[in-house]
Amino acid sequence: MNPRNGDTISNHMDLDLKDGLSRDELFATSDGLTYNDFLILPGYIDFTAEEVDLTSPLTKNISLRAPLVSSPMDTVTESDMAIAMALCGGIGIIHSNCTAEYQANEVHKVKKYKHGFIRDPLVMAPENTVEDVLEAKRKNGFTGYPITCNGKIGGRLLGIVTSRDIDFREGQLDCKLGDIMTKVEDMVTARKGVTLQEANHILEKSKKGKLPIVNENGDLVALIARTDLKKARSYPNASKDSNKQLLVGAAMGTRPEDKDRLKLLVANGVDVIVLDSSQGNSIYQVEMIKYIKSTYPELQVIGGNVVTRAQAKNLIEAGVDGLRVGMGSGSICITQEVMACGCPQATAVYQVSAYARRFGVPVIADGGIQSIGHIMKALALGASAVMMGSLLAGTSEAPGEYFFSEGVRLKKYRGMGSLEAMERKDGKGALSRYYHTEMDKLKIAQGVSGSIADKGSVLRFLPYLECGLQHSCQDIGAKSLKDLIDMIDSGELRFMKRTQSAQIEGNVHGLFSYEKRLF
Ligand code: GDP
Ligand code: 5GP
Repeated sequence: MNPRNGDTISNHMDLDLKDGLSRDELFATSDGLTYNDFLILPGYIDFTAEEVDLTSPLTKNISLRAPLVSSPMDTVTESDMAIAMALCGGIGIIHSNCTAEYQANEVHKVKKYKHGFIRDPLVMAPENTVEDVLEAKRKNGFTGYPITCNGKIGGRLLGIVTSRDIDFREGQLDCKLGDIMTKVEDMVTARKGVTLQEANHILEKSKKGKLPIVNENGDLVALIARTDLKKARSYPNASKDSNKQLLVGAAMGTRPEDKDRLKLLVANGVDVIVLDSSQGNSIYQVEMIKYIKSTYPELQVIGGNVVTRAQAKNLIEAGVDGLRVGMGSGSICITQEVMACGCPQATAVYQVSAYARRFGVPVIADGGIQSIGHIMKALALGASAVMMGSLLAGTSEAPGEYFFSEGVRLKKYRGMGSLEAMERKDGKGALSRYYHTEMDKLKIAQGVSGSIADKGSVLRFLPYLECGLQHSCQDIGAKSLKDLIDMIDSGELRFMKRTQSAQIEGNVHGLFSYEKRLF
């Protein structure tokens, strides 16, 4: 084709090169959009994906190396998940569907975590039997159990049972562990305070498989497994405080008694509080934010959930350090159907981020994240981080046991507003997230209860998400998430709406069968 008269590449106006829409133009009509309704147009690549810096703020004072947060749900985040999230550069928010003491102890476990140490090993008593060990092995997959006087961590260490002690004893199921264990006087142990490096050295010399750690009274405080030392990796992006302890968040409600919970959480070193409400624009939350900021000025507080500017305004004025955005977009959620209230998630993230940015308040896009692409879109709309439930449920670090159904290994995943979560037998159900008072006699479910397939360890899954995000940023032409924000502000970042047929085109189509392996 011949060029038009006088047309050269260099004399084109930049304007001609602006395909698609800016972020503000994308949302210029009042239609609510979801993540699937649009795409981000590619930019210019002059850097490698590995170079992309995913550092992003979680709150005014806390920055993460990876913009990933695990949701405060009782089938998603307790200490194991929070530790894995922090090791990989994100953060976990411990749920509050439990007693204050239980929640504070989970926070404590994260703050006291030392890489390589099993802080909460399964322990048996001398009265336990070979049958108990075999049963525990079937359930947990390991055979090394320290024996203490009371069968608990913190009890005096009496010995240890390992596979070598129970091999060939299948015919002696009643045999007491006290009679067959390796006794403490014949064991190699280390004193509390030992470093991982020293422990490594001791295990190397002793050639043993387990190293129990005891305090000055001989009470068991932790355990180290040789297998862990062998596969020990370092986590250079771990989210840490100034004492080099992992960062952790905790959820709480806005009732008067939650102030006692807060006190316990603070005493155990919590770094950030998430006020857990499905509709956060309330007098209860405004008052709680003011209380927390005046009582614990250093503590970071994330308010929410909100989906509109007007909701955000009240919480920003009350002093929040971050906002959690989403209503009705979660995978287990039926709020939009039952309450007729909510907002499509992409629009909610756009509205609140664009407004909150003026006041320097970071936004966490919460709910509806199903893929790396959704995370990238949330960030491209102005969110600083994303909060995930279903994407992390089903991993080995999520609370709960695996079970099998029709040959598939599953874990339970349920909404915190499901009747099941709100009706916990201990009376500590998730009422506060969905109800402000105990007066409501009839509970209306806003979530469902289901199951989700085994996803393996979060320690493998998060690196996949992070590496995928780096590649996505590379395609967009953003060398860091900070650059991405600049590109949004300048209008350089371009978007395009997708028709339904474009969405079909963008997915696998036309195949008889296929396998979708992600990493
Ligand atoms: P064992 O020799 O059969 O006990 O198994 P290994 O020592 O080879 O592996 C045990 C794995 O399970 C290690 O990665 C441990 O960190 C992990 N683990 C997690 N919790 C516990 C626990 O309570 N006790 C033990 N023994 N291992 C645990
Ligand atoms: P997901 O990542 O599974 O799509 O969504 C998780 C988010 O859904 C949570 O972080 C929380 O904001 C929200 N959520 C959790 N439980 C419920 C529920 O029972 N009802 C509603 N409406 N939202 C829920």
